[in-house]
Amino acid sequence: MTDEEHGFATEQVHGGFQPDQGHGARVPAIHMSSGFLFDDFDQARDRFAGTDDGYTYTRLGNPTNADVERRVALLERGVESILVGSGQAAATIAFLGILQAGDHVVAARSIYEGTKGLLVQNLGRLGIEVDFVADQRDLDQWAAAVRPNTKAFFAETIPNPKNDVLDITGVADTAHRAGVPLIVDNTLATPYLVRPVEHGADIIVHSASKFLSGHGAGLGGVVVDGGTFDWSASPERWVHLTSPERSLGGESYVDRYGSRAFIVFARDVVASRLGPTPSPFNSFLLRQGIETLSLRVERHSQNALAVASFLEEQAEVTSVDYAGLASSPFHDLAERYLPRGAGSVFAFTLAGGEAAAHTFIDSVQLFSRMTHLGDVRSLILHPATTTHAGKTPEERADQGIHDGLIRLSVGIEDVADLVRDLERGFAALRGARAGTVAVGADGLEARVGSDSELASLEHAVPGNHVIAEEL
Ligand SMILES: *Cc1c(COP(=O)(O)O)cnc(C)c1O
Repeated sequence: MTDEEHGFATEQVHGGFQPDQGHGARVPAIHMSSGFLFDDFDQARDRFAGTDDGYTYTRLGNPTNADVERRVALLERGVESILVGSGQAAATIAFLGILQAGDHVVAARSIYEGTKGLLVQNLGRLGIEVDFVADQRDLDQWAAAVRPNTKAFFAETIPNPKNDVLDITGVADTAHRAGVPLIVDNTLATPYLVRPVEHGADIIVHSASKFLSGHGAGLGGVVVDGGTFDWSASPERWVHLTSPERSLGGESYVDRYGSRAFIVFARDVVASRLGPTPSPFNSFLLRQGIETLSLRVERHSQNALAVASFLEEQAEVTSVDYAGLASSPFHDLAERYLPRGAGSVFAFTLAGGEAAAHTFIDSVQLFSRMTHLGDVRSLILHPATTTHAGKTPEERADQGIHDGLIRLSVGIEDVADLVRDLERGFAALRGARAGTVAVGADGLEARVGSDSELASLEHAVPGNHVIAEEL
């Protein structure tokens, strides 16, 4: 790629590309090799000393993985990124690159349940504490949760399922006033919809398993360093980055690497030791996915807006939590941070509670019943009995996760087909209403309680078309 400025679609295809040194392959190869040959004795020594920057062993670096790292860092406007095996691994590496026993994190309560578990159950056992902010729009709640040992803020740009879009600049400013970095999970937005670094966030994590990869085939995660946080402003808070290191000849990470201090530490000391190395094959799939990111996310967002608008008009629906809708309390934040679209993942709530959700979800045919997000295919899930089943009913109600709430990840299919599929769900709800009368073509009348009963009636009288009439 030339040095001139390029648009997102050009960068997602060409960014970070380095010509193949062997055969001139246009598509970077899958370097499925655990280790790399040293030409001679001296080269082995120099690679270990870091004076020759070639590869040694895939846990420490791999050309296929590095290709994706350069591209994601560029798309997110970071200084460098680390590719790992999953989104959870990315969050782990980001946290452990900053925190140690005795430290404290302030996080939004609406974050992904897996990340919440990581903070509470895993990092908690290592002596790292966390407090959750109930209403992330309220900057005073963030400020009030700060303690002398607070070392990071953590939030998601588009949380699911409630779409309570993050005020990135507001929370970043609050974090910076407390002298700590803001780490943001940008999985659901992707850099196509928003680049958090440009709004004040310092470190970005992704589950690349979702929209970045896009096709639901392989897991991945990325940590991106915006290079924006000044670790030397209070060096005593980040001694691992600011004190002399024997391995760096007595310099500190900040002395040696400046704005890249965090990401180099996270790569060389955290990721390479914990070892969540992605398979180069998965990295290849991820890079392939990234090359169409803008096209997919644009369509995902258009489809989601159309589906959300359709849902909002249905009598059985009590609320649609899509920040792209004017009715959303987060619409102003979506307009400010997500001008290209509000993404594809959101929830709607059926008045009929769990029974209605049950009927609805078992009636759709195109939407896949799955706990995944950001697939080209549309996905449907009932959080209260799956992702949030471990919460008490009070905790769920407190987070707006009612028994009738259904989460969608809207895919890139033809939107008319998606709406028709959801209409099946509503037809089933209407059919399930007591008092429905089915009239056979032979004039026979029967009262039926559900759509499946209706179907079996149809089956029982071959040749008869059963016409359902709502009373
Ligand atoms: C899926 C997800 C994760 C975890 O990612 P994995 O790749 O499944 O480990 C983290 N954050 C968000 C917002 C997610 O959707």
